[in-house]
Amino acid sequence: MADSDASLVTDSSVLFEHREFHDHEQIVFCHDRSSGLKAIIGIHDTTLGPALGGTRMWNYASDEEALRDVLRLSRGMTYKAAISGLDLGGGKAVIIGDSKKDKSPEMMEAFGRYVDSLSGRYITAKDVGIDSQDMIAVRRQTPHVTGIPEEMGGSGDPSPVTAFGVYQGILAAAAFCWGDDSLKDRRILVQGVGYVGETLVRHLTEAGAEVLVSDIRADQLERMKRTYGARIVEADGVYETPMDIYAPCALGATLNDKSIAALRCSVIAGAANNQLAEEEKHGRMLMEKGITYAPDFLVNAGGLINVNSEIASYGRKEVMSRTEEIRRTTYEVLERSAREGMPAQNIAKKIAEERIHSMRSTQSGSN
Ligand code: NAD
Repeated sequence: MADSDASLVTDSSVLFEHREFHDHEQIVFCHDRSSGLKAIIGIHDTTLGPALGGTRMWNYASDEEALRDVLRLSRGMTYKAAISGLDLGGGKAVIIGDSKKDKSPEMMEAFGRYVDSLSGRYITAKDVGIDSQDMIAVRRQTPHVTGIPEEMGGSGDPSPVTAFGVYQGILAAAAFCWGDDSLKDRRILVQGVGYVGETLVRHLTEAGAEVLVSDIRADQLERMKRTYGARIVEADGVYETPMDIYAPCALGATLNDKSIAALRCSVIAGAANNQLAEEEKHGRMLMEKGITYAPDFLVNAGGLINVNSEIASYGRKEVMSRTEEIRRTTYEVLERSAREGMPAQNIAKKIAEERIHSMRSTQSGSN
């Protein structure tokens, strides 16, 4: 075998044999010399419709870490759209770099040209490290963008709707766990009080809960204390803190061997994507520990429901009523999980997969 062939084998094993590669349809590696853009767009599945998912900018330690993230996140979007009854597929993009130092309008425009080259197979939106101004720069190069400001005809920031959906998920999980969805005096710890976490803190405070907050940003924590009377918990003391509900709203993979062993709560429901470090193993560990776990991609779908309103042309009222549905679906998933003795995450994925398979059969039947 020639040297060049040998390197090809090594390269392909990085992707097609990657442990997070699960039948993804298309992975696009983007590099723009003049703006310094390095990005990966992942399209997982377009059976139900175009792949929609936000763009995240993060200072990844390696290209491998970025690839892993985009593979996991894009697959999660497939499940999220499917279980929420949306005619969308799953996709996501990551830009490699420090969003505070490396980002520029030229970089976002270059990214927009890559999105445009996919002719609508992938529709982008904002995620961690990306703001509305960035999306406006992307919009200059492609129409395949959602979540742009309302004054530009978009649906605006999806975060408040995401928070409302997470709140619905928490109500359902509380009803399932305690037979009563009242949050009065329940101790709830919100980890990460950014765009979503802050609105969630407001809902929980209004519902009479005792709210605890944790973040790495001292200014945000002080604001939560001042505005809502929330109690601050040090970032490294979160998992040991006795609480009724843990709401992870920062980054993913906070549910792992160490944290699950330490956790002292009855319910977990939050906005972060990919909360389970290893889906099978940690989903089962939570079930065995008797913790009610509301699947992340189910309860955090409000933002997706909101941006989808730009494509499917429905208004605010429908956005909120579809998001409220998260409560009923979460309760049904938890009941089925208990009945079948299977982790809730697996049940939610099963429901999503059933919808995709049934669409595939319809499509192949009509060919
Ligand atoms: P954000 O960046 O505004 O907020 C995240 C917060 O977490 C920040 O305040 C940050 O300082 C904090 N944080 C980071 N590391 C932390 C740590 N180790 N401990 C405690 N806090 C930490 O992001 P967001 O838009 O609020 O989204 C929160 C999460 O929800 C993300 O995982 C995102 O992918 C997910 N999500 C968001 C939406 C949406 O509509 N914004 C939709 C679905 C899922």
